[in-house]
Amino acid sequence: MPPSRKFLPYGRQFIDDDDVASVVDVLRSDWLTCGPKVEEFERAFAAKLGVEYAVAVNSGTAALHAAACAAGIGPDDEVIVPPITFVATANCVAFLGARPIFCDVEQSTLLLDPQKVAGCLSPRTKAIIAVDYAGHPCDYDALHELARQHNIMVMADACHALGATYRGRPVGTLTALNTFSFHPVKHITTAEGGMITTSDRVLYQRMMEFRNHGITRRTDAFEMTMADTMTASADAMWYYEMQALGYNYRLSDLNCALGLAQLRKLDRFVARRREIADRYTERLVDCPLVTLPSVHPWAESAWHLYPIRIDFTRLRRSRAEIMNKLRGMGIGTQVHYIPVYLHPYYRRRWGYKNGLCPIAEKAYEQLLSLPIFYSMTDDDVDYVVDCLRKVLAS
Ligand SMILES: *Cc1c(COP(=O)(O)O)cnc(C)c1O
Repeated sequence: MPPSRKFLPYGRQFIDDDDVASVVDVLRSDWLTCGPKVEEFERAFAAKLGVEYAVAVNSGTAALHAAACAAGIGPDDEVIVPPITFVATANCVAFLGARPIFCDVEQSTLLLDPQKVAGCLSPRTKAIIAVDYAGHPCDYDALHELARQHNIMVMADACHALGATYRGRPVGTLTALNTFSFHPVKHITTAEGGMITTSDRVLYQRMMEFRNHGITRRTDAFEMTMADTMTASADAMWYYEMQALGYNYRLSDLNCALGLAQLRKLDRFVARRREIADRYTERLVDCPLVTLPSVHPWAESAWHLYPIRIDFTRLRRSRAEIMNKLRGMGIGTQVHYIPVYLHPYYRRRWGYKNGLCPIAEKAYEQLLSLPIFYSMTDDDVDYVVDCLRKVLAS
């Protein structure tokens, strides 16, 4: 690695003075959590995407859990998920005692394939959780058509796809429940954090309660059932009821202040990621044994990842060897993802075995995510391309 070069991780945050000032303001204020920044962030996020409601929670995983619970997923239900995703997509189904059903993906994009989803449906199917892998939105019209025919719900794990569009419509508005993560490698960060967007008032209220222990302060007589039987009156200032089992999934004002400052930069962040992806595509298109990520004409990807596929068998070299060599040149790469059902928990608890989703398993053997993040320069991209070509040819 040339001494003048900084290590290039596969992804990282970008923090400027505006972010710092935004967080410091909150530190000097009266509210570190449960204050005004939470609603401000939610409103700004909902307005940015053009959706009615946004619920801030303390991780993308909490967002998935809250959304899956609001969708009514429960014991004995089946939920269709893709295997090429982060484990949290399937875990949120397991949290609720339901069974994740892994459906194989489309070869070109590694997204859920609506035709294959149709083959995974059963009388127990309650929902589909689509994952906008690498930032490319799924074919939501096709998934909704299927869901309508079978009276099931479509949710979007859009943790990779903030800023992406599907047939001109923004991700976050495409299903009844759309989840986002603000982990530092994602498009915008709050350190840890997540969000769910919805335009359904009932789902919104369920999730607001779910993130706060299931507690409600709503004074409408319908919800406040306990007040009748006790001396308390439902309109008393101090009065609250726990209507359902919930969690503490609240996001603090500190995190939300950072989120607000980051959200103002989202368009720049996404635009730069698109430039980087285009530059990789241009410079790697003729690279032997390498398959580049493809984009459907109806999609505008937000490029959370730039996952290439390398035919390591024909190359006669292992992925580990290539990754180690790149690391030695100052380049971090990662594998997104090990098919979720191959993890020991899923094999043991649910009896899943190799061979379930052949396209996903074949892709897993070949996947390698190259660095992509806002502050990468064109020179950084060219350096990665040069090093990769060298390593593959040597
Ligand atoms: C990041 C991510 C999550 C989980 O988000 P956390 O904020 O880390 O809990 C879930 N699903 C996908 C696809 C992700 O990339």
